[in-house]
Amino acid sequence: MITMTNTNPPSSPAASNPAGRSFNELPLSLAMLATLQQLGYLTMTPIQAASLPIALAGHDLIAQAKTGSGKTAAFALPLLTNLNPRRFAVQAMVLCPTRELADQVAQEIRRLARSADNIKILTLCGGSIMRTQTTSLEHGAHIVVGTPGRIMDHMERGTLNLDALNTLVLDEADRMLDMGFVDDIAYVAKRCPAERQTLLFSATYPDGIARLARQFMRAPQEVKLLEQHEESKIRQRFYKVEDGDRLQAVAKLLKHYRPVSTLAFCNTKQQCRSLLEALHAQGIKALTLNGDMEQHERDQVLVQFANRSCSVLVATDVAARGLDIAQLEAVINVDVTPDPEIHIHRIGRTGRADENGWALSLCSTGERNRIIGIAKMMRIEPEWHELGELPSADEAPLVPPMVTLLILGGRKEKIRPGDVLGALTGEAGFTREQVGKITVTDQSTYVAVARNIAHEAVRKLSAGKLKGKTVKVRAL
Ligand code: ADP
Ligand code: MG
Repeated sequence: MITMTNTNPPSSPAASNPAGRSFNELPLSLAMLATLQQLGYLTMTPIQAASLPIALAGHDLIAQAKTGSGKTAAFALPLLTNLNPRRFAVQAMVLCPTRELADQVAQEIRRLARSADNIKILTLCGGSIMRTQTTSLEHGAHIVVGTPGRIMDHMERGTLNLDALNTLVLDEADRMLDMGFVDDIAYVAKRCPAERQTLLFSATYPDGIARLARQFMRAPQEVKLLEQHEESKIRQRFYKVEDGDRLQAVAKLLKHYRPVSTLAFCNTKQQCRSLLEALHAQGIKALTLNGDMEQHERDQVLVQFANRSCSVLVATDVAARGLDIAQLEAVINVDVTPDPEIHIHRIGRTGRADENGWALSLCSTGERNRIIGIAKMMRIEPEWHELGELPSADEAPLVPPMVTLLILGGRKEKIRPGDVLGALTGEAGFTREQVGKITVTDQSTYVAVARNIAHEAVRKLSAGKLKGKTVKVRAL
């Protein structure tokens, strides 16, 4: 087993990898190296540097590294290398715990596959119509990405043929175990061709993983990246709080530190709901994710948070798991978690991409012992603060810089991001800088625009045309 200590955070390639190892030293095609260059992947992240040589040599692999460390490319590159684009059959399959993660993985594989022509990638997840998926499968796909339950359904019905499969990937294996997918995974894996490569990726390494792996992996090599955050990037402060003041304290921290994007962790769903109410009462734009939401509602939440039109995403650890959300100025631990490892995961969400980040924890007397455990594991001396230090005057309201506009119509109507950007910067006369992230889903398009032009942008988009048609637009 290779065990490495990651002393630098992963997001900045150069800093994250002291050796700065280049993708050029790997057995990759020139076209793939050029794609990586174009994507700005200049050096391998530590988990990529540790896994890729093993996986590209064809071995089975178990790799563990925290969220945001670049695990997707660590399995996407071997999977694409094993692929023959001229063969119209499913050659690689990635199992993911949720539809969001499957979408993110499919998107990253698409980006990495763009130098090769016509590689078809299909996502197969619950919540979408079976019949539509079956038709897409009939048209042929090279790669499928999906959730274990739905993939199993297709296998049982004979709509997914895996005879040509050469690479099986389990992504976020720990999370899939948490969600009770263990039997489904075993079912799927055992029905894949025996001659294949299996790659398993996970953020943590609970016992269940080794047990699962033993059932269907062949002499897997293991790579583990121990976590350690560089203190200079994540500035961690602990605030003493009485239980009754906790929710108000969150608003106070937000108004004082004024982060554009904050992930606020609660230990329970009930606490998430209460915090959401408290923040709304303070005029703070906050949203939450939970298991009862419809898929399009979840999409809307993630889009608004990622494009900076929502200040706070309130979530439990389960809900936030695996989401690739860049640019977080702050993580707030509304409740301290009893598990120091989870605390480290939580705060690892901030301080990415060469930015400094705040990790602020609210801690009652009853939670002091948890901080002792955290301090010991992180080898830090906790920096204690009093809420009273924060000025109590009415600070300016915390307002997100962007507003999300929802356009009814998406991929199905052949709308592309460029069409929306064109409509806003063309006839409507806005500048490129006033337009933020554009996200196109099957049925809808989301575009972030600067708050001060939102009203005008809705008016002009509704009055104009997109793909030759008038569209319905509203601000979320
Ligand atoms: P994980 O699966 O470990 O949570 P991801 O694969 O989602 O991490 O990667 C996190 C982010 O880092 C993504 O936005 C991805 O595009 C980016 N990334 C991955 N590898 C590199 C690299 N070698 N250089 C620069 N950015 C990278
Ligand atoms: Mg991942």
